[in-house]
Amino acid sequence: MKKSTLCVHAGHEPEPVTGAVMPPVFFTSTYVQQAPGEHQGYDYSRAGNPSRTVLEKAMAELEGGKHGFCFSSGMGAVDCVLKTLSTGDHVVAMNDLYGGTYRLFRQSYEKLGIGFSFISCSSASEIEAAIQPSTRLMWIETPTNPTLKVVDIELCAQICQRHGIVLVVDNTFASPMLQNPLALGANIVMHSMTKYLGGHSDLIMGGLVSNDDKLAEALFFNQKSTGATPGPMDCYLALRGMKTLHLRMKAHVENAGQVAQFLLSHPKVAKVYYPGLSEHPGHQIAAKQMKGFGGMVSFELKNNSEQMASMFLSNTRLFVLAESLGGVESLASHPASMTHASIPREVRLANGISDGLIRLSVGVEDAEDLLEDLNSALENC
Ligand SMILES: *Cc1c(COP(=O)(O)O)cnc(C)c1O
Repeated sequence: MKKSTLCVHAGHEPEPVTGAVMPPVFFTSTYVQQAPGEHQGYDYSRAGNPSRTVLEKAMAELEGGKHGFCFSSGMGAVDCVLKTLSTGDHVVAMNDLYGGTYRLFRQSYEKLGIGFSFISCSSASEIEAAIQPSTRLMWIETPTNPTLKVVDIELCAQICQRHGIVLVVDNTFASPMLQNPLALGANIVMHSMTKYLGGHSDLIMGGLVSNDDKLAEALFFNQKSTGATPGPMDCYLALRGMKTLHLRMKAHVENAGQVAQFLLSHPKVAKVYYPGLSEHPGHQIAAKQMKGFGGMVSFELKNNSEQMASMFLSNTRLFVLAESLGGVESLASHPASMTHASIPREVRLANGISDGLIRLSVGVEDAEDLLEDLNSALENC
C-alpha cells in the first residue's frame, strides 16, 4: 500500500465487537482474566493497552517496520534505547543532537559508565576512526536542529553493519512521509511524535520502530519496566493526527520551499538554511534519501545579532514565538536563547548556531499569508 493510504488506514480495521469504523479509546488500567494468568493479550495497561497497540502498529507500518513502541515523550523513547546498553559500552553519536538527547547522554548515562564520542558524521573515515571495540550503538539525527545538517544514513548503516553496531536514527524532523531510515539500513527509528506525527501541538509523545525481533524484545522489556508509556487519550490524539500526516507534510514542504526561496532573495537576509536549496551542504544527500526537504527553515539577518533577531521575532504575527515544531501552525524561535541556551556559547557557535539565528517551523497556512508576515517583519527590522 502507498504511504497516503497507510496514513489513513494503518494499524486497525473496523472494530469487531460493534463495527466501529474508528478504534475505540480504551480507558482502562486492567483487564479481566478468565483464570489466573489467562487473558486476551492484555493484563495491565503499562504493558499494553489496545489504544496504544493501534498507534504502535500504525507507526511501525508507516516506517516500514515490524515492531512499534510508543512512549509518554520522545525522551522516554531515547531512554528506552539507551537502557539496552551496559556499563562499559560505547556510543558514537552525532555532535549536533537534539539538546535533550545530548543532556541525557552526558548527564545521565555517562555517569553510569557508558562512553560517548561525538562526531560530525560527515565522512566514512571520521566514523570509522570513532568506533571502538566496545561501540554498541550509533546515534544520528537528520536533518538536525536548527541548522538542518544532513547525515548520509546509508553510509552510516553500511559501516555499522560491518562492525555489528546498532544504528539509531532520530527521524523527527523528516517524519515517515519524507524519510524511512529502516529501508536505508538503520536498526531503530526514533520519533518525537510531539512534532509532525501528532502534528497539532497538543500532545507530548515518543516512538520507536524496529525490524529486529531481538532488539524489539529488549525495547518492549524496557518500555514496560520503565513505564514511560502514553495514556489512551494521547494515543487516540496521535492516531488522529497521523491520519492526515501525508496532507500536512505536503503542505509543510511546499510552504517551507517558498519561505526558503523568499528569504534567500530578501536583501536583509544573509543566510538561509534549508536542505532543498542547492547551496545547502547536505542538499545532494537529502535529495538522495528524502522524498521532500521538510518544513523547517533557519536563517540569519545581514545584521546578525541577538537584538536584530529579537526585533524580527517581535514583529511577526502569524509566526508565533515558541519552542517545538511540526504542528499545523507556524512557529518561530531563537535557538541561542531558547532551545540551545544551555550550550556554552563557543560550542554553540562552533556548531553554526549564531546569536542571531532564527528558526522557523513553517505551518500549513496559506503560503501568501506566511510570506507577507515575514516580509512585514523584515521591513520593520
Ligand atoms: C522534540 C525532539 C525530541 C524530544 O522529544 P520530546 O517529545 O520533546 O520528549 C527528540 N529529538 C528531536 C529531533 C526533537 O525535535
